[in-house]
Amino acid sequence: MLNKLLINQNSTLIFVLSAINDNEMGIVFTVDDEKKLTGTITDGDVRRALLDGASLDDIAEKYSNKNFTYAPEGKTTEELIEIVEDGKTIIPLVDENMKVVDYFQYSTNLKVPVAAPLLKGNEFKYLTDAFLSSWISSTGKYITDFENNFSSFIGTQYGAAVSNGTAALHLGLLALDIGPGDEVIVPDFTFAATINSVLHAGATPVIVDVEEDSWCIDPQKIKEAITEKTKAIICVHIFGQPCDMDSITKLCEDRNLYLIEDCAQAHGAEYNGKKVGSFGDVSCFSFFGNKIITTGEGGICLTQKKSIYDKITILRDHGMTKEKRYWHDVVGYNYRMTNLQASIGVAQLEKIHSILENRSKIEEKYREIFSKVPDLKSQKVDIKNTKKVTWLVCATTENREARDAVIASISKIGIDSRPFFYALSSMPLYKEYIHSNEVSNKISNIGLSFPTITGLDEEYFKKLEENLTRGLNNL
Ligand SMILES: *Cc1c(COP(=O)(O)O)cnc(C)c1O
Repeated sequence: MLNKLLINQNSTLIFVLSAINDNEMGIVFTVDDEKKLTGTITDGDVRRALLDGASLDDIAEKYSNKNFTYAPEGKTTEELIEIVEDGKTIIPLVDENMKVVDYFQYSTNLKVPVAAPLLKGNEFKYLTDAFLSSWISSTGKYITDFENNFSSFIGTQYGAAVSNGTAALHLGLLALDIGPGDEVIVPDFTFAATINSVLHAGATPVIVDVEEDSWCIDPQKIKEAITEKTKAIICVHIFGQPCDMDSITKLCEDRNLYLIEDCAQAHGAEYNGKKVGSFGDVSCFSFFGNKIITTGEGGICLTQKKSIYDKITILRDHGMTKEKRYWHDVVGYNYRMTNLQASIGVAQLEKIHSILENRSKIEEKYREIFSKVPDLKSQKVDIKNTKKVTWLVCATTENREARDAVIASISKIGIDSRPFFYALSSMPLYKEYIHSNEVSNKISNIGLSFPTITGLDEEYFKKLEENLTRGLNNL
């Protein structure tokens, strides 16, 4: 194979193209008459050269990339992965005379991913069924089935499937008549879609801090942020951990505020034996590919109130009235879910109990390991009244440097991980909305998530444990 990657630098561009076509690797290495490496040319380089007016008879040397990535022979795979990480996938390996002796091909599936959908139930069967029925757009039996099944799984009267979790939040706010001039309280530690939806609705977000233990919005901080303009609270059950719903629902009652639950990371989590998503005036879930269950892209709004449900279903369908086709009383959106997405959702929901059980077993296994690593703390699991679910397995370190060191260290043994979300308040985009952010700022800098997928075997955990114990002792 190496031969097919090497071409003489005096070859023509047409020769380069034919070599790339032949090796199917998208790249060639150019060498001089002594077979010393002089550069690399990708198919993209040739395309750009031709678009810039190059001729197919031009000499390759003129267009070969002289600022190329390469590595000396004899490096370990881990070292090579570090070297190729700037997006290149094939690099030449050279001897001390710059002669190409081999190449290294980086494949992204070398790494254990943080998340992966589990599609081994009826997903393909139902998807095929939806496809063959020709109901591939946003009408079809899988949509109603999914809405009914999901709302009864959570324990609400109504469910409206939508195109994604952000759309669900946006519609939830609009259905509660929240807009310009209104303030909506959001936690500082969340994925940005939570606050973006408030801004989409034209309302003013007010960012408040989270609790030290649960990493969820702090009811005391909510209280301090309430003004006469406050209309609603969006609470986020972060990483599968339910918020303090007793305090939050009481605050909403006392101060006459709406509650929107962002359950994008907490399908099936419980508070006082009731599923999260059954407390809010509207509750929003996401079914993005890395969530607990998925429809590819997708979301749902749940509610107990018919009036809210009606508003949401009108707004998701262009604002068209239900009585008169093509008649619009409000400016709506196209936020519908397709029958194809819903078919996958129906199959996912059939096995949600085993998915949740599996995830929590994975988390237990990790916790065992984290407990042996002095500087690594597991996410709390035994918070009063709550039964968390496992979205991504999380841990925190002593400080940011330690966190980044863990990420780098396990990356070298092919394990992917994610640093926590940046605190919203740390981004200039959202700075003007900060009310409080002390704890969130700390947590976002020291937390990380680990691969939470099926198929992590004993060998994986052994490798991880070895790496973590060794890595952190060396700090
Ligand atoms: C994923 C996520 C969303 C957004 O869901 P999408 O389906 O990606 O639009 C909203 N909030 C939180 C907390 C999330 O994790």
